[in-house]
Amino acid sequence: RILQVSSRVNSTRYPSSSFSSSSVSTVKLFINGKFVESGSDKWIDIHNPATNEVIGRVPQTTKAEMDAAIASCKHTFPAWADTSVLSRQQVLLRYQQLIKENLKEIAKLITLEQGKTLADAEGDVFRGLQVVEHACSVTSLLLGETMPSITKDMDIYSYRLPLGVCAGIAPFNFPAMIPLWMFPMAMVCGNTFLMKPSERVPGATMLLAKLFQDSGAPDGTLNIIHGQHEAVNYICDHPDIKAISFVGSNQAGEYIFERGSRHGKRVQANMGAKNHGVVMPDANKENTLNQLVGAAFGAAGQRCMALSTAILVGEAKKWLPELVERAKNLRVNAGDQPGADLGPLITPQAKERVCNLIDSGTREGASILLDGRKIKVKGYENGNFVGPTIISNVKPNMTCYKEEIFGPVLVVLETDTLDEAIKIVNDNPYGNGTAIFTTNGATARKYSHLVDVGQVGVNVPIPVPLPMFSFTGSRASFRGDTNFYGKQVTLSLKKIFSLRNFLNIFRSKDSAKKALPAA
Ligand code: NAD
Repeated sequence: RILQVSSRVNSTRYPSSSFSSSSVSTVKLFINGKFVESGSDKWIDIHNPATNEVIGRVPQTTKAEMDAAIASCKHTFPAWADTSVLSRQQVLLRYQQLIKENLKEIAKLITLEQGKTLADAEGDVFRGLQVVEHACSVTSLLLGETMPSITKDMDIYSYRLPLGVCAGIAPFNFPAMIPLWMFPMAMVCGNTFLMKPSERVPGATMLLAKLFQDSGAPDGTLNIIHGQHEAVNYICDHPDIKAISFVGSNQAGEYIFERGSRHGKRVQANMGAKNHGVVMPDANKENTLNQLVGAAFGAAGQRCMALSTAILVGEAKKWLPELVERAKNLRVNAGDQPGADLGPLITPQAKERVCNLIDSGTREGASILLDGRKIKVKGYENGNFVGPTIISNVKPNMTCYKEEIFGPVLVVLETDTLDEAIKIVNDNPYGNGTAIFTTNGATARKYSHLVDVGQVGVNVPIPVPLPMFSFTGSRASFRGDTNFYGKQVTLSLKKIFSLRNFLNIFRSKDSAKKALPAA
């Protein structure tokens, strides 16, 4: 089917512009403004996680194709960097409109490939859309700084200038939001971009690329390659790539951070998590239990900000049976089925890994209060489903506590005091997000100040910042010193100009070149 971008996309499966229309669709590359079929002889199957049927194939991009993509980014960079910031802003303004018009279609593609419910998939696109909207405020974000009379007859100006070719490597769990954390902000600042989506869920990125092109982004500003390790190594090593945005697991992230940094690139890496929700006995019980259930099991726990660990303090321990009752009421089904609260895990291997971690809890002395391992979903018997699972009596030395589970599993610890809870949170290697549930302002303040975690919610279970702030993380959840979106994103400061006896700063470029001292 033909993609109708100016009105609405009508396809419910792969649109033909960026995918072939053979019996099993193949995902195309996007090189220099064209969606092209890869000549690779190595392909990876894409499965629908609710059925495990093969729904498409994605190529392991060849070296020659990756070279072509980089050459396109590099060739386009000078003209794009020189395009006025207002023109770049206009592209993004059109882009946010097209994403809004096509939000439901992008969401359907996410549910097909990733498995999450349609409501969660729409949220995935919506959170990415907010970053695109934020990118539209580039005219304020890119303002530099000046200080007159820094010494006699001398002023200093700093400009925020684009770096060049940047690249993004994305995970499977937010197929729209995370690519949209990456390329729109980099590109509105004047960089060109090479994107490598997750090989398990490339569809949303392809559709977003088509919409970006239809927003007026010039050919070559955005290029897309596919694959796994070879593509990642290529990005880490290529001298023309100046910066890498990575989101994903620690195993990949540490490697990419180290290898990319070794090649002199600026690397931002947001990685794994073990997010704690601390429940104080003075919390609003009704609200807290509902929030815990949603944050632990929503999106089948495949969120980096999932609240996967509860610490019940003092009398709050008594709320455990009610927590279990609420979790039992969640409906597990294919993501496109009405009423589904959570869908399947991404692969059979992910399901096996999650079940093994639940098994480890039993072996190591924890209690399984709610067990989702044996769940059967009618009509989807081959899907990768795990039902909501609650493990109690968990101790910090247990495997199910130490590992990021990334499934619909809540591990529960108990303490007598807030101080003990804070110690547990700070002793855990990860520091992505956390929440405290309390009605006491002093308790909330103490917790938020003492925990070493990037994003802290007070009675807010998934404290993901809106894009005018930055997404962050601490300790093992984060490498690098730059953040996604927010003001941080424009910290691409390359040059500071010191100007002496230089009055007419609004010169044309040529005359300014003559007058500027060497930077
Ligand atoms: P992943 O690390 O397996 O994959 C991420 C990307 O890295 C993919 O594009 C993949 O092709 C590539 N990759 C995978 N293994 C690699 C390797 N060994 N060498 C080089 N490249 C490799 O992650 P995932 O399973 O797709 O995503 C889930 C993980 O992402 C979880 O750990 C989750 O917490 C994390 N995550 C973190 C954030 C955050 O902001 N902190 C957000 C979303 C997801």
